[in-house]
Amino acid sequence: MSDEPDFRCPVCRAAQTLRETCRRCQADLSLVVRAHRRLAYLKQQQRAQALARGDGQCDPQLAAELRWLAPSR
Ligand SMILES: [Zn+2]
Repeated sequence: MSDEPDFRCPVCRAAQTLRETCRRCQADLSLVVRAHRRLAYLKQQQRAQALARGDGQCDPQLAAELRWLAPSR
């Protein structure tokens, strides 16, 4: 992990590392933190499942949740 800003507050757009409270406007970002953790977990699950099957195919439910959490990716 680095301290490079990799996240922008959805309220004030301040670049910062992801944390539970915005450093500038003090917005509560705990839901954003949880969504990011969930996303990382889902991506890891997706990779593990694809490897286990050896076919590189996404689980449709996991793929749908990934799209919902991160539609731009
Ligand atoms: Zn903010």
